[in-house]
Amino acid sequence: MFTAGFTIMNVPINENYEKLDGGYLFAEIAKRVRSYEERNGKKPLSLGVGDVSLPLSQCVVTAMKEAANEMGRAETFRGYPPYFGYDFLRGAIRRHYARFGVLLDDDEIFVSDGAKSDSANFGDILGDAPVFVCDPVYPVYEDANIMAGRRVTRISAAKENGFVVSAKDFSAESAVIYLCSPNNPTGAVYDKNVMSEWVEKAKSSGSLIIFDSSYQAYIVGDEPRSIFEIDGADECAVEISSLSKTAGFTGVRCSWTVVPKNLLSRGRSINEMWARRQSTKFNGVSYVTQRAAEAALSYAGYEECRKNIDYYMENARLIMRALSEKGVYHTGGKNSPYVWAKCPRGLSSREFFDAALECGVVCTPGSGFGSAGEGYFRLTAFNTRQNTINATSALSSIL
Ligand code: PLP
Repeated sequence: MFTAGFTIMNVPINENYEKLDGGYLFAEIAKRVRSYEERNGKKPLSLGVGDVSLPLSQCVVTAMKEAANEMGRAETFRGYPPYFGYDFLRGAIRRHYARFGVLLDDDEIFVSDGAKSDSANFGDILGDAPVFVCDPVYPVYEDANIMAGRRVTRISAAKENGFVVSAKDFSAESAVIYLCSPNNPTGAVYDKNVMSEWVEKAKSSGSLIIFDSSYQAYIVGDEPRSIFEIDGADECAVEISSLSKTAGFTGVRCSWTVVPKNLLSRGRSINEMWARRQSTKFNGVSYVTQRAAEAALSYAGYEECRKNIDYYMENARLIMRALSEKGVYHTGGKNSPYVWAKCPRGLSSREFFDAALECGVVCTPGSGFGSAGEGYFRLTAFNTRQNTINATSALSSIL
């Protein structure tokens, strides 16, 4: 145990942290849930935080075991992985994109340990540009940029505009725009027209789009899985994606960022800058994990992982049915594991969260994703079937 000392540490700290909202949303929720557990002596059912519940697919486990065995033999042992990913995984990601018509070079793909870290870290190579995020959206984009001292503006993606922000409502120059499709938390998915308009707007305004396609595997229609399905996106966009929700890798940790070689800012290659940043600050993803990711992205492996996605989407259908039966307005849940619903009886997001918790169910207050989320709550399809059924029936008394 440390004892109190007499010197006062006087290193200046990053004052931008003072500008962040109260606590990170999920930490705040965890605190309230802990208090529920202490009071009731049991855990609530969670349709809140977006973690998966199904185990890894067999193809992934087999690949991990084989890779672990290789690491245990002198002749196949490997030390530090390459900074940007092993060739075998970059190749598997390239082939994955080719299945929906996107042709990439391996050196445009940077393997990483999470879409969360990359979406925040990408700011390392950006200057003091104005940043735009949709509202509501995954809170990391905004918080990470506030920490870096950038000015962040929210663009409302509410019911009136179908929860999709249009480039027509955007007029800034040389800005950084975060887009997420399918969106967390609303489940809204951007169609080709809307994405083409964004690409046009980014190009004409000298802006950069940071596109988060972490939920691309959930798209069932013909909406783009990648921003690079849009002509010209390679000159104005980077794309961050992840196996967390595609293949249950939330605990395994593997993602990638695509940085096209055509992407230049004032003549400087963004691809080279990101390579420089990664090789300085990141030591790569483990061999075992990359072999697991390769298996998940193989044709057969992807089909196997899709079975878990189908299971979650059946949960989403059950959630939506329960909401429909009570006449509660909701959206999402079709191309996304998230169902976004209006709080009944005019309750605020926090009031509904508290009421749901008293019924033994954790949801996520919509206001935590931005002010346009006030009056909404998010339910996720990631729990087991039985827990989803139990949670929706427990909620029925307050819907
Ligand atoms: N991007 C979005 C939109 C998310 O919702 C999440 C997780 O909930 C992430 C990124 C995090 O992905 P990862 O687990 O790869 O860090």
